[in-house]
Amino acid sequence: MDHYRVYGNPIEQSKSPTIHQAFAKQTQQEICYEKELVQLQQFSEVVSQFIKQGGKGANVTAPFKEQAYKLCDHLSERAQLSGAVNTLSFNNGAIFGDNTDGVGLVQDLLSNQVVLRNSRILLLGAGGAAKGVVSSLLAQKPDLLIIANRTQAKAQFIVDQYPEENIQSSLYNEVAKYHFDLIINATSAGLTGDSLPIPNQAITTNTVCYDMVYGKQLTPFLVHSKALGAKKVIDGLGMLVSQAAESFAIWRGIKPSTQEIMKQLRAELQ
Ligand code: NDP
Repeated sequence: MDHYRVYGNPIEQSKSPTIHQAFAKQTQQEICYEKELVQLQQFSEVVSQFIKQGGKGANVTAPFKEQAYKLCDHLSERAQLSGAVNTLSFNNGAIFGDNTDGVGLVQDLLSNQVVLRNSRILLLGAGGAAKGVVSSLLAQKPDLLIIANRTQAKAQFIVDQYPEENIQSSLYNEVAKYHFDLIINATSAGLTGDSLPIPNQAITTNTVCYDMVYGKQLTPFLVHSKALGAKKVIDGLGMLVSQAAESFAIWRGIKPSTQEIMKQLRAELQ
């Protein structure tokens, strides 16, 4: 039986084992997929140990995606562009890195009928999750993509990786001068209960608000957006399931359907 892991800190809340076991059942494959809490300084050590034990691959979540990127011998083009890796594959002692967050996000937005072409998008955050989705968002040809972060230099660093002229960085308190069709929260602020300091005027009745975080209750960002009359609010459960399906396809060569597990997880969250 092939063994896989998901690494993060924290990791207790991770649904990835449930999702991958469901994909395995659906596609009639035998795999073992487990979550593992990794201490901040021990990521590379934990990965090497798993490779020695014959592990086949791993997902990587916050805060290790940038460390995972540095660990790889080979990178997919989208991982190279994003500087962050969420999918590791181990083959003959070599580590291959890919990033399926962007394609997962775009698939989920499109399946929620969000129009991306010619749209004006605000991406909040400049950590591993934000880096991972920029190339996929740009591939949808928006009019404008603004990346805002508490530390603007980190947002500008991402912008500098791309030759496109429709991408810019900003501070949170300066985004109100634009009108956005879509605002995506890719920060971990919701996890700590902190709300984001973006001006209320940035969210109008034409704005779809998306939070990469999901949970039993709406996240603070989505509660705030709803109260301001946002056109639609969407949490990150669909992104989670779609990025997992892409990782599964990389490892197993077969793309599972996401509908059933999506329904199951949504019901569990009610
Ligand atoms: P990182 O730790 O790499 O980055 C964290 C980001 O959040 C940084 O931009 C940081 O800003 C910002 N931030 C943290 N706290 C605050 C705060 N109080 N106020 C404002 N900004 C804050 O994490 P990731 O990028 O890997 O993950 C971000 C979130 O996205 C996580 O909650 C993760 O669970 C979620 N996620 C969901 C996925 C899904 O499939 N649904 C996939 C990937 C991620 P600064 O740089 O200034 O410190």
